[in-house]
Amino acid sequence: MKRVTIVGGGFSGLTAAYYLARGGAEVTIVEKQDRLGGMVDTLATPQGLVETAASGIRNSGRLEELCRELGVPLVHTLKASRRRYLYRHGRPTQWPLGFGESLGFAGKLGAHLLTGSFRPKAEESVETWGARVIGVRPTQKILSAVLQGVYAGDSAKLSASLLFGKREKPPKPSKAGLVAPPNGLAQLSATIVGRLRELGVEIRTGVNGDGLSDGITVLATSARDCSELLKERAPETSKALASIEMVPLLRVTAFFPSGENSWPGFGTLFPREEGVRALGVLFNTNIFPNRGEGHSESWIYGGATDRAILDLDDAALFEIMDRDRELLVGRRVEPIARYPQRWHVGLPHYDLHLERLAPAKLPLPENVFLTGNYLRGIGLPMLLEQSHATAQRILAT
Ligand SMILES: Cc1cc2nc3c(=O)[nH]c(=O)nc-3n(C[C@H](O)[C@H](O)[C@H](O)COP(=O)(O)OP(=O)(O)OC[C@H]3O[C@@H](n4cnc5c(N)ncnc54)[C@H](O)[C@@H]3O)c2cc1C
Repeated sequence: MKRVTIVGGGFSGLTAAYYLARGGAEVTIVEKQDRLGGMVDTLATPQGLVETAASGIRNSGRLEELCRELGVPLVHTLKASRRRYLYRHGRPTQWPLGFGESLGFAGKLGAHLLTGSFRPKAEESVETWGARVIGVRPTQKILSAVLQGVYAGDSAKLSASLLFGKREKPPKPSKAGLVAPPNGLAQLSATIVGRLRELGVEIRTGVNGDGLSDGITVLATSARDCSELLKERAPETSKALASIEMVPLLRVTAFFPSGENSWPGFGTLFPREEGVRALGVLFNTNIFPNRGEGHSESWIYGGATDRAILDLDDAALFEIMDRDRELLVGRRVEPIARYPQRWHVGLPHYDLHLERLAPAKLPLPENVFLTGNYLRGIGLPMLLEQSHATAQRILAT
């Protein structure tokens, strides 16, 4: 029987453990924190559910299969979340470009699609690629705003190839869109943990997984932690991973009386230079059912272009949030409660350095495998693909 040690009990480690144990391997998970799930957690507060990091998963065939096997239901987004907004000239709008800008946008995009020059070139930033393919203004007001909301990156440094180049996609689901378990994402991690125990997986929490085991090891941590773990046995790879920039993120979930749910839609993204410091806001109550009795919003701050906000205390942060919210909805309303979550070492920057580094190709000691959000994608569906592929490779050797 194959023996595998997995270092890291976040979504990547738990799903890798599941596929390995289901395939007949003898698996041990080592997690340095006292709880499993990593960044993904759902707090059950008196006002309603609060997600600490991911709040929804783009549905995939693999996710549907996993949830079917585990008996975890998946809820699709509510109709009330259909509209998405971008903020421009002091108000949210579904299309932030004027008539002339829209014509320029359509003309440029059409020409590039016809001539086949749409694909990003090697080492082309999102800003350069966007200016070439759709124009400067659409890049600033749409593309950069969307990408800072998803990748928390700086579009002058984000790699267009990493984000828009050819890459494998997860298998198609029966119904596309964003999904979540009814009780939040922690319901999925908790159910996986329960199934792992049934499958005989040994789970050791509060244990640092340094000193690699002699058998097969899967390192399912952030790039930063992985660099530490490889210091002795693969110093060059460790150095390369340490050079990956980690961008900080901050999420404040606030609960308001239900009357505050006056704004329809999923949320609003804020392009830079529009006077709002937040990267975006999600109207949680409109997105999934069961998000609290009143109205719940999550304000997202930080990213590669605003590290300083992570150093503010709650009072200063809430003042900024109140001002941003006033710019969006036109009034100040004191929330019933707020739950800030700071990720000082948040997500890997999908920048030109990461493109050049190609961490998936770095040399590794024998029997060591990597899986994580710096290799093939930040979102949970791509992490699930990686866990599945890593488990298949190990089981097949
Ligand atoms: C604010 C925010 C919003 C997001 N929103 C979404 C979203 O809506 N949808 C989506 O798909 N994704 C989203 N993401 C991204 C997604 O949440 C992460 O990419 C994903 O959770 C990372 O999971 P992971 O298991 O790879 O890493 P982690 O969750 O970081 O888990 C790694 C684990 O390894 C452990 N570890 C590290 N070093 C050691 C060691 N030496 N020994 C033992 N254990 C160790 C850590 O303690 C941790 O538990 C969001 C992220 C953030 C921050």
